[in-house]
Amino acid sequence: MSSSTHEESFDVAVVGAGIVGLAHAWMAARRGLRVVVFERSPRAIGASIRNFGMIWPIGQPAGEPFLVALRSRAFWLELAEAAGLWLNPCGSIHLARHADELAVLDEFCSVSAAGDYSVRMLTRDEVLQRAPAANPDGLLGGMWSETELCVNSRDVIARLSCWLSEMFGVEFRFGSLVTSVEPGGVTTSAGQSVVCERTVICSGSDLQTLFPSVLAESGLKLCKLQMMKTGPQPDDWRIGPHLAGGLTLRHYLAFAGCPSHAALRQRFVVEKPELDRFGIHVMASQNNSGEVILGDSHEYDDEMTPFDSSEIESLMLRELRELIVLRDWQIVERWHGVYAKHPERLILEAEPQPGVHIAVGPGGAGMTLSFGLADRHWTRWLGE
Ligand SMILES: Cc1cc2nc3c(=O)[nH]c(=O)nc-3n(C[C@H](O)[C@H](O)[C@H](O)COP(=O)(O)OP(=O)(O)OC[C@H]3O[C@@H](n4cnc5c(N)ncnc54)[C@H](O)[C@@H]3O)c2cc1C
Repeated sequence: MSSSTHEESFDVAVVGAGIVGLAHAWMAARRGLRVVVFERSPRAIGASIRNFGMIWPIGQPAGEPFLVALRSRAFWLELAEAAGLWLNPCGSIHLARHADELAVLDEFCSVSAAGDYSVRMLTRDEVLQRAPAANPDGLLGGMWSETELCVNSRDVIARLSCWLSEMFGVEFRFGSLVTSVEPGGVTTSAGQSVVCERTVICSGSDLQTLFPSVLAESGLKLCKLQMMKTGPQPDDWRIGPHLAGGLTLRHYLAFAGCPSHAALRQRFVVEKPELDRFGIHVMASQNNSGEVILGDSHEYDDEMTPFDSSEIESLMLRELRELIVLRDWQIVERWHGVYAKHPERLILEAEPQPGVHIAVGPGGAGMTLSFGLADRHWTRWLGE
């Protein structure tokens, strides 16, 4: 792309103002680079504002994924302090209601004693002390992990862009769809062009606008998740840490190596096959307004419809009511989100043209991993 005198010039153009784009913008700006961010909507309304707000290192397998999550966690703590964002270092408890769930958690704790996980088993009474929302009926115990954080993703995504502007002079072009990216610059659908040394494409679940063939060939899959939220719980009542249960042990790879995992998986297949039709596992987080965010289901690619299903909602609520007790179960919001996920990698990172980077597809862990991944990317791209 040729530069003309009226075109603005930046070191970096980022496409997409979701968490992945904001993370790459922040990590570039803290290295002293001049950054512009393009977002097609008047404000970011993709997966990054539709999640639980869980920073969830415990779900990441030991080794590099978990270390990236911990690095991200450190950035979240730094950001919350610097930008005055609400962040609750609430930790998490996986509740055990069946012998095989207790066994998996026990095995995970034993193995992880040698690693970096900060976990320990809790008795039933200890769980109930820490987690007022844990359902005491049928509860056997649980696993406490101290690394999980809670943020209000709707606030964070809106305020992070303001903070990046104020602190680092990052420029935001909302309502600007980028339609063309070439080495040296980007162009929007309105014909606006900027010149830049590097472009980072963080376009989330839009696999069709920029470099569609690269994205199609990468193996990325799209996944749709249904979610719900209660109103604020009465009397400022808090649920305690993030809560998950046996179903979640099947979902995250961290637990896959535990010897009792196969038996647990098989029990759910036999006892509750209806959940696997919709990839349901259930979790709960509570934001700074006291609202409890509940989910979720997983429907991939061809299974996805634009419509939300009341059957999925009923199944999720059935499982949640077994796991937790809330003071007020009234659902005040329902929505779904779609993310892209790479089948093997933490994120798809590609450089289809010199200085043009793609960072797409952290799946269900974008809030957990993005800062650490973006920091690692910039270290590599700049040869630090
Ligand atoms: C329901 C749900 C619950 C989740 N829960 C959690 C959780 O608790 N913890 C966790 O770690 N992760 C969670 N995730 C995953 C996490 O939310 C995602 O991994 C993450 O938000 C992806 O961020 P992103 O920036 O890639 O995508 P998005 O947030 O979708 O942002 C992409 C942005 O790019 C813009 N864009 C696309 N193309 C263009 C273009 N050509 N020009 C300009 N702009 C463009 C879009 O408008 C969009 O705003 C959840 C996801 C969902 C859907």
